[in-house]
Parts: sequence; C-alpha cells; structure tokens
Amino acid sequence: MTFKTLDDIGDVAGKAVLVREDLNVPMANGVVTDDTRLRATVATLAELADKGARVLVLAHFGRPKGERSAENSLEPIVPALAAALGRPVGFIADCAGAEAEAAVAALQPGSITVLENTRFHKGEEKNDPATVAAIAKLGDAYVNDAFSAAHRAHASTEGLAHVLPAYAGRAMQAELEALEKALGKPEHPVAAVVGGAKVSTKLDVLKHLVGKVDHLIIGGGMANTFLAARGVDVGKSLCEHDLTATADEILDNADKAGCTIHLPYDAQVAKEFAANPASLRITNVHEVAPDEMILDVGPQAVEALADVLKTCKTLVWNGPLGAFEIEPFDTATVALARTAAALSKEGSLISVAGGGDTVAALNHAGVAADFSYVSTAGGAFLEWMEGKELPGVAALEA
Ligand code: AMP
Repeated sequence: MTFKTLDDIGDVAGKAVLVREDLNVPMANGVVTDDTRLRATVATLAELADKGARVLVLAHFGRPKGERSAENSLEPIVPALAAALGRPVGFIADCAGAEAEAAVAALQPGSITVLENTRFHKGEEKNDPATVAAIAKLGDAYVNDAFSAAHRAHASTEGLAHVLPAYAGRAMQAELEALEKALGKPEHPVAAVVGGAKVSTKLDVLKHLVGKVDHLIIGGGMANTFLAARGVDVGKSLCEHDLTATADEILDNADKAGCTIHLPYDAQVAKEFAANPASLRITNVHEVAPDEMILDVGPQAVEALADVLKTCKTLVWNGPLGAFEIEPFDTATVALARTAAALSKEGSLISVAGGGDTVAALNHAGVAADFSYVSTAGGAFLEWMEGKELPGVAALEA
C-alpha cells in the first residue's frame, strides 16, 4: 500500500494541522496511570510543531455518545501529554464551531493544542459530512496518527481524509510498515501464534491466517476446542464444544493451503484455577483427567515450538499460550516469547505482536522491547489480522 507521510506534507509553517491521535489512556482519580499512548504521539506532534505548524490534536475519550460530560473531557489529559512532550500543550473546549475557530485563529506557530473530545459531537461516530466539514474548517491539513482507531470509519478517523490533504503520522507510518512486513509482503517461512481464551473471538483471524502463514501455532484456551475436534478429551478445560466442527474446517483448510497447524501435545493442568495449585501436573494432552483443566502449553511442546520459530523468518503473535496472569501458567508464553525475542535480537526473525493481552504478556516476559514491533492497538490489530481493510488506513491510500 502507498500513503503520504510527513515527508510529503511540505511547508506547514503557520498552517493549522489537525492530527488524529489516540489519547484514550487509562485514568484513575483524574490522573493518567499509563502514558504509553501519549508517548506514541510525541514523534508526530513534535515534528509538526518544530516545523512551525499550529498543531491541533483530535481524539476521542471514552464513550460519551454525542453528549458533553465532565468525565469524558480530554482536559485532564493535557498535563500528562505536556509531560510526555516536554513542552506546553494548550486546550480548546470544542473541536468544531465558531468559538473553536476563533481560538485556533489566535494560536501561535509551533504550538500544540488539544481539542475537546470528538465524540461530544453526535456526527463523529456517524461520520456525518456536516461534522466532518465543521472540524475540517479548523485545519489546512489532516494527519492520522492513530492506528488503534483506524478500524472505525468516524469523522476524525476517516471522513477528514477525504476533505483535507491527508497524511500518515509517524506512529501510523511505523505501524503500517511493520504490519506490511509481517503479513502484507512477509519473508517466508511465516509463523503465527494465536492464543487467548476463545476460538469464537478469533475465528476470522484463524480463517485468514491459514491462507497466509506456513505455521499456525494455536495455544491458550482456544487450543482446547481444536484438541476436542481431534477427539481429545479435554476434561474440565475451557472449550467451545459447539465450535468443534468449525475447528475441523479450519484444520482441513490449513491442510489444503499447506499451513502446518501446531497444537500442544503436552500441557500444564490443574483441578482449580489458582496460582501454584496443589493439583498442578504436566501431562500428555491425551491423559487429562475428567476433573482437570488445561491451563498452559507443556514444556515439550514449547521446545518443539521454539524449534519451529528457529526455522522461520517472520512471526506474528496475538494472544497468550496459557492463563498467563497466574503462575505457573505463564511458563509457555514467557518461554516462547523469550525465544522469539532472542531470534529477533540476533536479526534472524521479524516479530510483530499486538493486542491488549499480548502486550501485557510480553511485558510480563520482559521482552516487549526486543520484538521487532509491538502494536498497542486492540481491535484494529485483530481486524488487520483478519485481513480486513481498515477504513482509516484505506482513506490515507494515495
Ligand atoms: P484473549 O483476550 O482472547 O486474548 O484471551 C486472553 C485470556 O485467555 C487471558 O486472560 C488468559 O488467562 C486466558 N487463557 C489463556 N489460556 C487459557 C486456558 N488454557 N484456560 C483458560 N483461560 C486461558
């Protein structure tokens, strides 16, 4: 895919540039508790401000459904954004309308200003042309830097790209380039790790990947449904028995496409869902007792999976291999993530991971920094893994 970046934006000195960012950060008692998303905005905002633009930051916060509300205001985030940027950040209490227009007209070149929550306007989520036009009136150009919101066709994520000269911001650009390397035009062999609780939430991901990758590694609770489809008695494990026919179909399609599916052949099992339970044992998946649950991939399977990764050039990862929040069911995720990180560090593997729980799992393993790219986008990353076109990205296509 081709899209314009900040390299193409030309002279922006004195111009008002609307930049869609993701400021939807976790807050507790009015204070930002994790500024990862704010730090991701710095490259684009600082570059545009340094070029003398009047930078106008557009973002949503929460789900105010078109109504103004104090709890969904972006104003409390401004100090944390200023801290991340290391420069002052202003605030305008609306992202459209006469008052906002007057306030924008008074801004200095090189300034950075957050505009109030786009979702305070009903037309934002409807991508209403009148709302698009009202926001567009504030700016001379539009930069989309929020990949995590690009799966939504809203006024600030999609509509504006059609009415103003549109560019990908630096974070968006890095994300799209990484994703292109991982699944767009990857170097083969390609492996995918798909884990997590349920098959039902990742059916489209699995269906798409079997036609794209050479090795599909299935872990987590969803592996149990596949094991059940293959006739394994998974005891009390989390398992969607109503989806075994679908799992069978995916296995068949993989076979036809030449994609090898890897299911765990040993597992860490227990009778209760608790840390270090007395009933913990490691067993072949064919010997799970009726009152036991599979809670993690076993050590032999992890070793075999590490050997698979060593033969691969590209890896895309979404979802943990086990119930990684409780010990020792983080073992397989941590071990395989460390293998992937080591291979990436030595340059033999391009590794791209994403999705909320995946980032938490890689942070837990202490290896997020060694992956080639880690996406903090949740829904957008999954839709991309499903092979869907993201409207916010499509609208940037040159
Ligand atoms: P997801 O949100 O679909 O990526 O699923 C992540 C969740 O799946 C985590 O909270 C894990 O604890 C859970 N999980 C992974 N493996 C298992 C398993 N074998 N049994 C139950 N839950 C699991």
